[in-house]
Amino acid sequence: MDIPVELRPYVRTAWLPEAAEEDGPPTASKLGGTAWIPPGDSWPACPNCGRSLQLLLQLDADALPEAARAAVGEGLLQLFYCTSQDPLCEVDCQAFFPFAESVVARRVVPKGEGADAVPDLPGAFSPRRIAGWRAVDDLPTPEDVPDVDLPDRVWDDVYRHGLVERDKLAGWPLWVQGPERPRCPQCQSTMHVVFQIVSEDTLPIVFGDMGTGHLSVCLEHPDVLAFGWACT
Ligand SMILES: [Zn+2]
Ligand SMILES: [Zn+2]
Repeated sequence: MDIPVELRPYVRTAWLPEAAEEDGPPTASKLGGTAWIPPGDSWPACPNCGRSLQLLLQLDADALPEAARAAVGEGLLQLFYCTSQDPLCEVDCQAFFPFAESVVARRVVPKGEGADAVPDLPGAFSPRRIAGWRAVDDLPTPEDVPDVDLPDRVWDDVYRHGLVERDKLAGWPLWVQGPERPRCPQCQSTMHVVFQIVSEDTLPIVFGDMGTGHLSVCLEHPDVLAFGWACT
């Protein structure tokens, strides 16, 4: 689509992961697979069902596109999520809200060999190592640019052709129910969205009714991360 002139100042680069069907090293950027676990730690488990959590995402800051690195910080960003259907931890723990008990979103800075920890998880997702990134232009949803006044038909066109409804690094979050940026519990500032995960894009995950999730970080407190999702 031709980007409407009013929206041109708001174009941001988003990077789409190019996935390889392998796990790669424990410190690699990946969707699914085996995470680097700090020495002495075990694989994160769900307090509701006791099972291992599924790794959804690990981002190696050093291997990200230069322009995206500053907001990510250092080390590895890791997102683990309970995929248990019985009990249905997603609902029991309200995993759609940030800071849910059945979700671990954290930063680790790998030093040397990690723990020899693997998930005990029947039906774990096949690993997808992020072998590269493809840059695309991304546009905001109307709620994120309240000063931009465009006719509905133009926004319809933006929704159809301009918003990147994919797993992506940076860019603009695609809000399903309007902006849901968490607040940092330590400083109350609005957290910054780092990565978007869409149901059944790279991973066979389905958030509720085909929801879209966002991993956010506090730019003041790099160890505060949160993940939440919404569906229509
Ligand atoms: Zn669980
Ligand atoms: Zn903070």
